[in-house]
Amino acid sequence: MSVDAELADELVAAVSTWVDRDVISQSRALEQADEFPQSMFEQMCDFGLFGATIPPEYGGLGLDAITYARVVEELSRGWMSLAGILNSHKLAVAMITRFGTPEQRSRFLPRMLDGSFRASFSLSEPDAGSDTRNIRCRAELDGGEWVINGTKMWVTNGMRSSLVMLLARTPDDRITCFAVEKAPGERSGGLTISRKIEKLGYKGLETVEMSYADHRVPHANLLGGDKGMGEGLRYALSALELGRVNIAARAVGVAQAALDAALAYSQERETFGKPIFAHQAVQFMLAEMATKLHAARLMTYDAARRYDAGERIDLEAGMAKLFASEAAYEIATDAMRIHGGYGYTTEHSVERYYRDTPLMIIGEGTNEIQKLVIARRLLERMRERG
Ligand SMILES: Cc1cc2nc3c(=O)[nH]c(=O)nc-3n(C[C@H](O)[C@H](O)[C@H](O)COP(=O)(O)OP(=O)(O)OC[C@H]3O[C@@H](n4cnc5c(N)ncnc54)[C@H](O)[C@@H]3O)c2cc1C
Repeated sequence: MSVDAELADELVAAVSTWVDRDVISQSRALEQADEFPQSMFEQMCDFGLFGATIPPEYGGLGLDAITYARVVEELSRGWMSLAGILNSHKLAVAMITRFGTPEQRSRFLPRMLDGSFRASFSLSEPDAGSDTRNIRCRAELDGGEWVINGTKMWVTNGMRSSLVMLLARTPDDRITCFAVEKAPGERSGGLTISRKIEKLGYKGLETVEMSYADHRVPHANLLGGDKGMGEGLRYALSALELGRVNIAARAVGVAQAALDAALAYSQERETFGKPIFAHQAVQFMLAEMATKLHAARLMTYDAARRYDAGERIDLEAGMAKLFASEAAYEIATDAMRIHGGYGYTTEHSVERYYRDTPLMIIGEGTNEIQKLVIARRLLERMRERG
């Protein structure tokens, strides 16, 4: 998808300025209170971020993946949870845009522009995370409606969302995706938020367990219409390619924040009569952190550019997610070490970076699963080359 480069640069710059001015100073208190950042969310709506990747014919900006990655990076430099508020919505937009019927695209996408009708993504279950084929949530047709029963786990934005992209097993034992409309809140029809999951980091936005008891969904909400029967996992995994670029971009943003904090602190803190930056051991850590960050950013942008060019990117997105998330975890740890004992307190944001970065290693397919995907794709490419 081509996008006006000037408009894209302006949007990234506006988000970046806002992050420097408002987000960095306010995020620590909100994070520690585990409070939803309502005013930041409203500012994200004002920037048009929820509709940013929606095609112009439905009223969106039709933003490309590279601009989206840069926006996510900037948000995460301020507070990674802000990117989380956006991400499940973007996955839903990608699924509906790519695989929805024309009627579903015109019914949902215009409502998804301004942040008032947001989406969550629900693949995982208590016994099905990496092992997606083990999904047990069931959907059975009764008249013109699907009746959903089961428990879904780890639904980020599940409480506040109005739409859930739900993966469920149909009687033919295949996995199908349903666009489940719901009222924001704890209960809607037979759908209940059965638990709010307390997390190590990624605070301020909810991740919940969702239970379905005879919850009814119109047949018209089966993603892709009749052609979508049994295609749910393919649709979800395809959207997750973009999701992995998002995770890599988040990792780059948090890593940048950690490096910035460590570099600044290394000038302020003195030991043995000089700033700790003057100690070669600290310089070496900073040099390695910056090098890993640079490589992670290049890999992320490369995967995004390939996505925009219409290439298959499971290999590059997997590599970018793997490398950037591991790099961010190491950079956050080193930033904490450079802060010494102060890095272990809640007075500095580096402890948050340390708590937030493991999510990028686990979320949207663990890094062990990424390695399996990468290795399989390497073999396929070798065979394709003959
Ligand atoms: C904060 C948070 C938010 C989330 N949000 C969402 C969301 O919005 N929607 C959603 O659908 N899901 C969400 N998830 C779920 C997430 O995608 C899963 O946690 C993740 O895919 C891993 O699944 P699991 O937790 O069941 O771990 P498991 O699959 O049980 O894995 C446990 C360990 O075994 C390893 N492992 C498993 N299988 C293999 C294998 N074949 N080879 C090698 N190693 C293997 C894993 O790498 C991992 O180290 C979220 C998770 C978290 C923590």
